[in-house]
Amino acid sequence: MNFLVTGGAGFIGSCFIRYLLETTSHNVLNLDKLTYAGSEDALKDFKSDPRYNFKKIDICNKKQLESSITEFKPHRIVHLAAESHVDRSVITPEDFVNTNILGTFALLQVALAYTNDQGKEDFLFHHVSTDEVFGSLGKNGSFSETSPYDPRSPYSASKASSDHLVRAWGETYGLPVVISNCSNNYGPYQFPEKLIPLMIINALDRKQLPLYGKGENIRDWLYVEDHAKALYLIATKGIAGQSYNVGGRDERTNLEVVKIICEMLQKRLPTSSHFKYEQLISFVQDRPGHDFRYSIDSTKIRRELGWEPKENFRSGIEKTVNWYLENQSWGRKNLSAL
Ligand code: NAD
Repeated sequence: MNFLVTGGAGFIGSCFIRYLLETTSHNVLNLDKLTYAGSEDALKDFKSDPRYNFKKIDICNKKQLESSITEFKPHRIVHLAAESHVDRSVITPEDFVNTNILGTFALLQVALAYTNDQGKEDFLFHHVSTDEVFGSLGKNGSFSETSPYDPRSPYSASKASSDHLVRAWGETYGLPVVISNCSNNYGPYQFPEKLIPLMIINALDRKQLPLYGKGENIRDWLYVEDHAKALYLIATKGIAGQSYNVGGRDERTNLEVVKIICEMLQKRLPTSSHFKYEQLISFVQDRPGHDFRYSIDSTKIRRELGWEPKENFRSGIEKTVNWYLENQSWGRKNLSAL
């Protein structure tokens, strides 16, 4: 099949493309604007692979989308391109409205015109979304596929909006669509503004490890390769019109996450008895509208598509810490470009 992937130079997109090229025989076209968050480094090994192609385009540009899609003739569009950092969405919400909402709208229109022309059989538009669209939980409960939408940040509102557009294009125009809502990912090549890579790099540089509030907010963590596998199952076995929640069933407070990172670093790069990485943890004023807890009920994808994550948080974070230790120049280069 021909897989058109948007945002394939990003953290999850690049992992998904690596999965496709390493484990399947499908062709891949990667459409990415290469914003600050895009890095082709993750895909450098595949640059000369005849099954891989890259085009630097903005998904808001309908003309460029049209020519790419009619030329490539995709069987699957896996749409990951987005502005993805919640803190940024508070400061520059325009970028989130443009890419996440208007960009998704443009892609849907072009995909619809393409399927009206080529037929809808063996075509699926897969929108990759987040559990943040469901809002914030208290200490108990989990989000299921039928949980009501209740986004609170400009980021989650823009993703909720794009989910609604995708569903509407399925219901109204008969475009075969599927949506996945995943919990927080971590792993190699995550842009170092995000919690886990930022904490690893700061700790290596003996800088403060700032946590919002008291570090009590809870996230449900998933290793990125397990997400890539889930995306492949959904794109190939998912039922049009359905949505699938993806999560690792591994909830941690932010403080716990950072303590585990410090513990791993302590083992890998022991310090003198006067200094422990944990001493760098500091608490800063909470972000406005900071959701307290996310938790994903992933029963449906496990039962219907046979998905299981391979890593738990401890095994995944160990791989991640090791990767950032071995790729410090990548992390620092991107952090200093901010
Ligand atoms: P990322 O920020 O690492 O990558 C986003 C990619 O999209 C970058 O390569 C960027 O260049 C590209 N992009 C941005 N605007 C574009 C535009 N206008 N046109 C073309 N390309 C553009 O993001 P990520 O963490 O890899 O997330 C990928 C997707 O998964 C997003 O849709 C996000 O909402 C969703 N998601 C992320 C997580 C997570 O924990 N990171 C969890 C659930 C869902």
